[in-house]
Amino acid sequence: MKQSPRGRNFFFGPGPTNIPDSVLHATARATVDFNDADFLALYEQCVEGLKHVLGTRHHVFLYTASGHGAWEATLANLCAQGDRLLMVESGYFSDDWTKMALKFGLAVETLPADWRRGIDLGDLRRRLAADTEKEIRALCIVHNETSTGVRLPLEEVRGLLDETDHPALLLADTISSLGSMEFRMDAWGIDAVVGGSQKGLMLPTGFSFTAVSDKAMAAHVRANLPRFYFDWTEMLHRRQKSFCGTLPVSLFFGLQEALRLLEEEGLPAVFARHHRLAEGVRRAVSAWGGNAGPQLFCTDPARVSDSVTAVLMPEGHDAEAIRQNALRRFNVALGGGLGPLNGKVFRIGHLGDLNEPMVLGALGAVEMSLGLNRVPHSRGGLDAAMAWFAEAA
Ligand SMILES: *Cc1c(COP(=O)(O)O)cnc(C)c1O
Repeated sequence: MKQSPRGRNFFFGPGPTNIPDSVLHATARATVDFNDADFLALYEQCVEGLKHVLGTRHHVFLYTASGHGAWEATLANLCAQGDRLLMVESGYFSDDWTKMALKFGLAVETLPADWRRGIDLGDLRRRLAADTEKEIRALCIVHNETSTGVRLPLEEVRGLLDETDHPALLLADTISSLGSMEFRMDAWGIDAVVGGSQKGLMLPTGFSFTAVSDKAMAAHVRANLPRFYFDWTEMLHRRQKSFCGTLPVSLFFGLQEALRLLEEEGLPAVFARHHRLAEGVRRAVSAWGGNAGPQLFCTDPARVSDSVTAVLMPEGHDAEAIRQNALRRFNVALGGGLGPLNGKVFRIGHLGDLNEPMVLGALGAVEMSLGLNRVPHSRGGLDAAMAWFAEAA
């Protein structure tokens, strides 16, 4: 069953993502002292670059931790015991962030949503307007829900807070949108932004961060949840004004190169490439959807994600079997369904260091796997993607 391991593994998980060769090479460096002046200069250059990608002039706190660490840091530095939080339901990641907030003793209220389309903005507006006592301290939202492939309109959410004159802090998770879809912290009025290294930034897993508005820094003063490693005030006393403890220096050599690549291509071109690749994937899935075949999980065309596509299997067919087949037979790694979506969807991650022929390789492996596993579908997914790529190039 398992074929030759030769050739490249085609990695199409939605995070971690492919690491460009030049970034890999940049990380292969001897140890340096993270308090050394030379390293400090590189560090500051990296933070400035990161701010550019985030679209912010505000301070960024970094942690040697995966994205979950940045979630935890953000809650612990902005909330007080018993604070009311409004979590916008989007999927597995909003559920996980909710679990964390509950553990911290926060009063979490979920704004329910259909995972296939994301929240109804009218519901959010009504909920904010009904909070006449302004008890909701913070609104938490995942910009791009990686488990469902649904992107939520952050600018419109900001608009609703303004319209209802609501003072809640706006906390956004941009872990799987940063560096692959447009995101502008300051222009969109976001108070705290959580990001990580291993998705659009094309780095190994190992650091994450929170960018913090002035309004959020003011709220930090009254936060009383226990924290030390993640404490922003503690960090401000450190040399780098970030990190308690050792910095992941190798990752900064990689980050310098990854930021250089993003700047060289130009962010608008990076976003256009992600859109082009994503649209090719969507056209392939739509073609397969004939004959009661697989469907796009996201049902709102205005909210489809340009970094990941979740594909819903026809009833009675196992998404994991497709994933296993693609991996064992063709050495193509796809993402699985998370939480309640396990076995029901597989995910094609299309963010980071990818181009058209790589995407066609993954789509080819999926189309072959659908056939081999006798999943009902229409052929022609690959043709649809090729036609789009040829026209959109
Ligand atoms: C990956 C991801 C996370 C979790 O990040 P880890 O680095 O795995 O801890 C959180 N939110 C979103 C939207 C993600 O895609």
